[in-house]
Amino acid sequence: MSDIAIADVSVVRLNGPRAHLPGGGAGEISKLIVRVEADDGTYGLGEAEDFFGVTEAIEYIGTVLEGRDPMAVRPHVSEVVFGTLPPHTKQQQQLVADSPEGFQPVTATSPTATPYGPAVWGIAGVEMALCDLVGKALGTPVYNLLGGQYRDEARIYLDRSAPDVKDDLDAWREMARESVAEDFDFLKFDIDYTAPDHTDDPWNRSLSSAQRHRIVERIGAVRDEIGPDIELAVDCHWQYNEGDALRLARDLSEFDLMWFEDPAPVTDPETYVRVSEETDVPVCAGEMLTPDQFRQYLEMGACDIVHPDVLFTGGLHATHRIAELAEMHRVPMAMHGNGGCLATIAAAHVAAASRNFLGIEYHHVETEWLAEYVERTDAPLFENGAVPLTDAPGLGVELNESVCEQYLESGETLF
Ligand SMILES: [Mg+2]
Repeated sequence: MSDIAIADVSVVRLNGPRAHLPGGGAGEISKLIVRVEADDGTYGLGEAEDFFGVTEAIEYIGTVLEGRDPMAVRPHVSEVVFGTLPPHTKQQQQLVADSPEGFQPVTATSPTATPYGPAVWGIAGVEMALCDLVGKALGTPVYNLLGGQYRDEARIYLDRSAPDVKDDLDAWREMARESVAEDFDFLKFDIDYTAPDHTDDPWNRSLSSAQRHRIVERIGAVRDEIGPDIELAVDCHWQYNEGDALRLARDLSEFDLMWFEDPAPVTDPETYVRVSEETDVPVCAGEMLTPDQFRQYLEMGACDIVHPDVLFTGGLHATHRIAELAEMHRVPMAMHGNGGCLATIAAAHVAAASRNFLGIEYHHVETEWLAEYVERTDAPLFENGAVPLTDAPGLGVELNESVCEQYLESGETLF
C-alpha cells in the first residue's frame, strides 16, 4: 500500500471541428479528458473515446475507486473488467459475511460484469490517468512503469483516408506526395472510401468488379507516387465477405503492402485466417479488441500484425500485455489511434516499452486543436514522423488550458 489515496475522478468533454472526415469533407469531433487526483494533490490525466455510456462508466468507476490506493492500477482494472464491483446482490453480500476470516470471495457479477463496451472504454481513460499519476508520484516516465524503453521515439503512421475528388488519380498522387513531404514515411488509406463512387450496394459486403478495379488503380497511383521505400497499408473497416476480401487482397498484393487491415467483420476470424494463409498480404487486426480477444486471434493465426488501441483495450497495461503476447508469437504490433494528442502520447509510452512495435496511427494533422489541448515543455508532439519520448515523469504533459477552455462543452467546467 502507498500512503496516498484516490480523492477524485472527473471527466470533461471537448468539442471542436474536424478538418477531414473519413472519405473527405469536414465535420465535428469530441474528446473526453479524465483527471484523477490523489489526496496529496498529485494528479494524472487520461483520454477516453466519447462513445455512448463512457462518461457514465467513468463517473461510476470514480465512485468505486475513491479512497483506494492509486498504485494498484492493474487490480482496479481487473475488478472493473471482470465484474466484482459493488453494489452486490444480497446473496453476494451474505457470501462475503459468511466467509472465513481472511478469505475474500470474488463476486462474479456486478454492474460492470462485462469485458467489453463502455466499462472497458471508461476504465481505459481512468487507467491512463492513474499511470500518469503514479509516474508523477514516483518521479519516472510511464514507459518505466511498463519495464523500460526499447526506443526513445515512437514512429507515427499517417491515415490519409481519401481525397475529396475520388476519380482523379492526380488527387491521389497529390495526397500521397503531401503526406511524405510532411516527414511521414508510413501511410495508410481506407479501402471503403477509395472508390465509393463505384459502390453498388452499401449493405451487401460485396465489391463489384468495377469498384475493385478502381481501388486497385487508385492505390496503385499512390504506390507509384511514393515509390517502393515508403510503407503503405490499407484498411477495409470490417466491410467485406470472404470471397471479395480474398480477391481484393490478391489484386493489391503487387503493391507490397505493409498490411491489409480488418477485411471482414470482427466476429469472422476464420476469414482473417484464410486471407492470411491464401495471399501474400499480411493481415492486421484488432483495433477494438481486448487482451483475451487478441489471445483468440493469435492462437487461430488470424492476424500477422496486432493493432490494439489504448482507448479500447482497457488501458496502457492491457495494451502492453497484448504487445507481449504478440511478441511471444513473433507477431509485430502496430497501434490503432483515432484519439487526440493525449492518447497518442500515452500510446507512445507503450510503444517505447514494447519490443515488437511498428507504428502508431494518427489522423488529425489537419485538425490542429487535437494536437494542442495538452502541451509538452520539453519536446514537440511530432518530430520527423515520430513522437519523441523524454524523461518527464508520468506521461510528461499538462493541459493547455486556453485550448481546452476554447473547446470545452458548454456548461462544463475545466476541472
Ligand atoms: Mg482500422
